Amino acid sequence: MLNFEFKNPTKIIFGKGEIAKISREIPKTEKILVLYGGGSIKSNGVYDQVKSALEGYEWEEFGGIPANPEYEVLMEALKIIKEKNITYMLAVGGGSVIDGVKFLSAAAKYEGEPWDILQKGIRTEEGKGLPFASVLTLPATGSEMNSGSVISRRATKQKLAMGGPGLFPVFSVLDPEVIRSIPKKQIANGITDAYTHVLEQYMTVKTSATLQDRFAESILQTLQEIAPKMMEDEFDYDAAANFMWSCTMALNGLIQKGVTSDWAVHMMGHELTAQFGIDHARTLAVIAPSHYRYNFEAKKEKLAQYAERVWNVTEGSLEEKANKGIEYLEKFFQSLGIATKLSDYTENYEGTAELVEKTFLDRKWLALGERGIVKPEDAKKIVEMAY
Ligand code: NAP
Ligand code: FE
Repeated sequence: MLNFEFKNPTKIIFGKGEIAKISREIPKTEKILVLYGGGSIKSNGVYDQVKSALEGYEWEEFGGIPANPEYEVLMEALKIIKEKNITYMLAVGGGSVIDGVKFLSAAAKYEGEPWDILQKGIRTEEGKGLPFASVLTLPATGSEMNSGSVISRRATKQKLAMGGPGLFPVFSVLDPEVIRSIPKKQIANGITDAYTHVLEQYMTVKTSATLQDRFAESILQTLQEIAPKMMEDEFDYDAAANFMWSCTMALNGLIQKGVTSDWAVHMMGHELTAQFGIDHARTLAVIAPSHYRYNFEAKKEKLAQYAERVWNVTEGSLEEKANKGIEYLEKFFQSLGIATKLSDYTENYEGTAELVEKTFLDRKWLALGERGIVKPEDAKKIVEMAY
């Protein structure tokens, strides 16, 4: 196992009706900005719950943060933060709203040009961001309990990651009841995103981190178990609760400690969102199977372990089991109605592989993935295989 340090300061408040508790967590002296997306919280009752919890506080609101949060829109929110002397932010939404608020947390206290935070990858250290909390409305990204964020810039078709130990939410409320109003398409996205988060930290060269492997496998199996229930019309509270907690556990740092993680699937996937606007999760389902096929030699032992432990594949050689693992993975995404080829999403896929290679070269991203095994020319071939 590799050496590691682990600190996750985010308090989780989990369960039915718990949104009311935000008034217990935020000091009455704070001046709050509540931020949300395109309006789902207005129609599903979450906004009203937040509003009544904030009675007696001084607060403002900023709506309209789009999916794949945009720099241009966030700069409008930054103006309000400065003009109204906001001291605390409350993100009410999915990963996009929470990620947007993380960028604002960093930007509000940054002296220079805010774009530098993304362009130069400036990290926000502990105590250096504007404090914020979240009310999660869409389980998927794990953003509610981690310190990472991904921001898009429409004008330049860029999608860049940022973060730092100062960008953990102070607390996050996870009420599984919010899942009732999520369209099935978004549920499928959430399951796929969380599942791939686990894979990015698990599907690497075999390590000696036995407990992390077992944690990862248990999250994958739980997601597989709840997936059919979540895709049914009838709402199942317990399935929803397990779905929500699995998504959080998939990316709160725990399973990443002591192992070599990968993240190349996300880095290539981000380029497909930047180019074509494809939902984040769907880009992962397009890239992951090709990534594992292309890097088969490096990952085959873990792929076989995945097939054995997660899908109960007992027969065949190591290579056969590993191949079965990739096949089952692809079928799992497809069982959620998620297509796994780029050509399923766009007719203009020709040239994408070259574009990804060039973008990575321009950014000097010369060695991505576990142990740097994905060079720009490899990314080109992986994306090509995903056509
Ligand atoms: P999202 O973009 O936050 O939301 C997707 C859609 O779901 C929105 O249109 C939203 O509508 C709707 N929605 C949210 N909650 C709903 C509810 N309870 N009922 C009905 N509709 C609801 O989706 P996401 O998958 O959570 O976030 C994706 C972003 O997170 C991407 O930019 C991705 O790159 C990033 N990401 C971040 C991390 C991280 O660690 N920080 C990890 C992976 C991905 P409204 O706008 O109307 O609310
Ligand atoms: Fe993701």
